[in-house]
Amino acid sequence: MKTKKVLLVFSHPDDESFGPGGTIALWAKRGHELHLVCATKGEIGNNHTNDKTELIREKELKKAAEILGIKKVNFLGYKDGHISNCHIPQLAQKISAKINQFKPHVIMTFNLNGVSGHLDHVAVANATTSAFDKTGFAEKLYYYSLPKAYTDTIEDYFIHFPDGSEDHEFDEIVNISDVWDTKIAAMMAHESQKEDIDRILAGYKKFPQKKDHFMVRIRKAKNS
Ligand SMILES: [Zn+2]
Repeated sequence: MKTKKVLLVFSHPDDESFGPGGTIALWAKRGHELHLVCATKGEIGNNHTNDKTELIREKELKKAAEILGIKKVNFLGYKDGHISNCHIPQLAQKISAKINQFKPHVIMTFNLNGVSGHLDHVAVANATTSAFDKTGFAEKLYYYSLPKAYTDTIEDYFIHFPDGSEDHEFDEIVNISDVWDTKIAAMMAHESQKEDIDRILAGYKKFPQKKDHFMVRIRKAKNS
């Protein structure tokens, strides 16, 4: 199979591992080149924030990226929890610049409801969609999403957690059982987010399905 370049665009360190870590590991294993742009350094994180949180989370993301096989990590310099509407045009420009430079075949982000409903995720998904539509490089934009059968088992934990989708609504479901241990190891690299890790692992116990779910936006051919 031809080697493809994949650009991952997320909001916080841990989105890549807690979300589509399995698919990322699988694609890296197949020889694809993956770069990650992360909008913030996740300095608000989980409860125990202090001056060093930013540095800790940057280090954790680099470790997780290495475990998953992501070749390069860039940060876009936004403040965690503060990517609002007014940042979206500039954020889209920054993502477009990365697309124009890296020329990916595929781009991946969270779906437009932000998967967990986090507004930073919603903003990044919107900015990435706008950048995908305006630049001409990637053929496909993968939106990481969750199945309803899984979200039904999750209680709202800090914000409204949107319902997932039914299986027939997904364009691609990736079996990640072969790289499950790699995904879990990458999650564990985000040590400072232990409470989230424990919550997610408890969720996997209730809903043991080693699959990642995606909606795929395909670039429309020109003149059609
Ligand atoms: Zn996040």
